Amino acid sequence: MDSTSLEQVPQNGATDVDAVVIGAGIGGLYAVRRLAADGLSVLGFDSASDVGGVWRHNGYPGARVDIEAYYYCFFDPEIYGKWQWSMRYPPQAELLAYLQHYADHYGLRQFFRFSTRVQEMQWQPQTNRWQVRTDTGETVYARHVVMATGQLSKSRQLPFAGVEDFQGQWLETSHWPDEPVDLTGKRVAVIGTGSSGAQVIAAIAGQVESLHVFQRTPNYVVPSQNSPMDQDRYRRLSEDLGELWNKVMGTGVAYLAPTTEVPASSMTAEQQQQRLEDQWAFGGLSMTFAFPDQKTDWQTNDLVSEFVRGKIRAAIDDPALADKLEPRDYPIGTRRLVVCNGYYEAFNQDNVQLVDLRTDSIERVTATGIETGAGFHEVDVIISALGFDAFTGALDAIDIRNAEGQKPTDGWERGPHAYLGLMVHGFPNMYVLTGPGSPSVLVNFNVHNVFHVDYVADLISFMDGQGYAAVEATREAQDDWHTRTQEAADGLLRKQVKNYMVHVNDDGSRVFIPYAGGWSTYVDIAKGIADKGYAGFTFTGQDRSDSATANRASAALSL
Ligand code: NAP
Repeated sequence: MDSTSLEQVPQNGATDVDAVVIGAGIGGLYAVRRLAADGLSVLGFDSASDVGGVWRHNGYPGARVDIEAYYYCFFDPEIYGKWQWSMRYPPQAELLAYLQHYADHYGLRQFFRFSTRVQEMQWQPQTNRWQVRTDTGETVYARHVVMATGQLSKSRQLPFAGVEDFQGQWLETSHWPDEPVDLTGKRVAVIGTGSSGAQVIAAIAGQVESLHVFQRTPNYVVPSQNSPMDQDRYRRLSEDLGELWNKVMGTGVAYLAPTTEVPASSMTAEQQQQRLEDQWAFGGLSMTFAFPDQKTDWQTNDLVSEFVRGKIRAAIDDPALADKLEPRDYPIGTRRLVVCNGYYEAFNQDNVQLVDLRTDSIERVTATGIETGAGFHEVDVIISALGFDAFTGALDAIDIRNAEGQKPTDGWERGPHAYLGLMVHGFPNMYVLTGPGSPSVLVNFNVHNVFHVDYVADLISFMDGQGYAAVEATREAQDDWHTRTQEAADGLLRKQVKNYMVHVNDDGSRVFIPYAGGWSTYVDIAKGIADKGYAGFTFTGQDRSDSATANRASAALSL
């Protein structure tokens, strides 16, 4: 199929398609592939100049995935086992190359308009279409819109006074420039010490003249224990991808992790220490899986937290510095564990200085550096690694309006939520991949995106089979799911700690945003709902245009 067939059914001089997909990252690429394979006419948009999504934008030094590549990939027989990964945890450049290869392999670029930002979406109930407008002046009408915009894609605003005065180079980890950045011999500040900040700090410490690290909350940073991919294992897994997929779908986190069912209380002190050492040796996120009760039991969690704090103290030469870098006021795993090699070791270098924002504060940015209450840090480059407007940012970046003129985030004052984390009541035919109320950031995004896209594709196919034009989550189903999401998080230490997964209301009540009941439970519930004829969804209308059928016939692909 060539891209011209996308424009065969004009409406008011504009393109009319079955589905618009916004975003060309993991979810967007798979959505285009699956929907086009189903015979739908599809048009994708991405503001970047090529595919990759977050794996394109987060090209900062040290960026690397923290889930093993055996599972952080498409379980696609045409690619799995053939694509060669170098390491268990490959670097960003390799993940980007992989997604580019996926796009090449299936000819997916032809479906996308790159360097094109979707600015407005308006639901038109008369035609059961979304009117989609872009910053290039294009208007597209779509029966369905797949929001593959990601939950961690819209960077936080810079909250510091004087940012515009800075005469040096300002870089953001989440929107790293495409062209090479040479930091050799530069005086560099990094603000933020989450996954992005830690990775960039460890990567550049040995290269820059001076590194000033602005830390607000110390994190538990654990090594990946990265090693080359076990090629025999990779080949064996590739031989039965169906089985691998089923196993992954049966896990709590959408990948095979070194978990145990044995609680800490059933082990002797020696067994507990051995378990902790084994998890440490495995690396990556495994310290979150040392004991099943560490998520809910303070005492068990403290075993794990103290073990990791001991490793932190051992890695840092200066005990006073270790004191500042050690996370002591919250339990491990209640904020996203940071996986990064060489982070604490970087602070043993003379050129690396910690600015502790718990005892000092950023007053303003000046032309030449950062002024804090306690002094001035003259730098050539400032790297901000402040994180994202998680869950709401990417949706709010587009002016999305339903028939009543409301935005999808209007009803989220008391916390973002959506039915199954996929559909917002009042917004027909709009699907938010890995949205609030789905397992989302708690699990493997790659598998999660594929599951959600397949779910949406099956839903569309069901609608087409029944002659329905519009689907919407009912308010009751959405509210009920929200309640279930909160119940699933009850008792979790994570809900009691400040982090981007928790929405805190003015009255102090806390809303846990992702579904924490476990991946396999979520999958079973979602499938059960589909099996019951999509309980909780309402279907309306007949498609009033022949274009869908016409498009489908012209767009049928043999992917
Ligand atoms: P993040 O975890 O939200 O970290 C943001 C950092 O900026 C925190 O240290 C935060 O401090 C600090 N910060 C925010 N506002 C600040 C302010 N006004 N002044 C000073 N410091 C401020 O963001 P991220 O590191 O980009 O990671 C986000 C998520 O992306 C991760 O949880 C992970 O899921 C994903 N990620 C994964 C990888 C990977 O290993 N594969 C790499 C990068 C990102 P506080 O903690 O005090 O708020």
